[in-house]
Amino acid sequence: MGVASPLDTVRTVSDLRARIAAWRAEGLRVGLVPTMGALHDGHISLVKNSVADCEKTVVTLFVNPAQFGEGEDFGVYPRNEERDAEMVQAEGADLLFAPGVEEVYPEGHSTKVHVGGLGDVLEGEFRPGFFTGVATVVTKLLLQSLPDEAYFGEKDYQQLQVIKKLIRDLDIPVTATGVKTVREADGLALSSRNAYLTPEERAQAPILHGTIAQVAEQVGRGENPRDLEAWAKGQLERGGFWQVDYVTVRDAATLDEAADASRPARVLAAAWLGKARLIDNVPV
Ligand code: AMP
Repeated sequence: MGVASPLDTVRTVSDLRARIAAWRAEGLRVGLVPTMGALHDGHISLVKNSVADCEKTVVTLFVNPAQFGEGEDFGVYPRNEERDAEMVQAEGADLLFAPGVEEVYPEGHSTKVHVGGLGDVLEGEFRPGFFTGVATVVTKLLLQSLPDEAYFGEKDYQQLQVIKKLIRDLDIPVTATGVKTVREADGLALSSRNAYLTPEERAQAPILHGTIAQVAEQVGRGENPRDLEAWAKGQLERGGFWQVDYVTVRDAATLDEAADASRPARVLAAAWLGKARLIDNVPV
């Protein structure tokens, strides 16, 4: 039995384009899975969706400095390219794009993509500059690779909506596909940042999903969203979260406050447990 050769990896935009152009010439359908690495089963689910729908799958690995704020975890964000490459290769990915910071933001780079409205609320409010960093890098990755389809997790629900909006607004010929959140058996959404939790905090963390699931169920039964938001905040605080940035019931498409469940709605939350800021969301 031979040893599998490592996953084909490119680090420049021109090499990426050359590989994809060769596939296009053969008429193959290309899927893109953007990630920051430190891969887990949530990311793998995106890769599986792409491999199922597309003939070629490109996974990108780039810890994007532009989406980290002052004092956030850019420096300590977990990085392990070798392991990530092995994981996605085992799922049938065809190419890894792992550019350096200078390749993505060469000296003098100054253009930013800001998604007004959708990108200014919730995460946009609590993490100023975050969505501009995300929107800028995702726009670049989409234009660099021009895939048929790009895959994003519902775990980052607002991010998915922001990306769909920039694709529409900028006429980028790509479809963004949302993939269901992958969770631990106790409900905690998989996240690279769960690694920051102590064992005690890890045991408390599933309260986040449990609480928003309960809000979703009760809003669905006709109870008042504002009353439930207040209840949920208290519930999280009693459960060990030392700060609740928001827990809120929103219109699923616009992210405006939802008055009831007459239109599709989503419960979204962000709260701090120890050193980790956890986010989660569920449909009503
Ligand atoms: P990240 O590496 O955290 O930037 O995430 C890369 C992609 O994986 C994003 O589209 C995320 O929404 C998605 N993702 C992260 N965690 C999960 C999860 N638990 N379930 C599904 N998708 C996820």
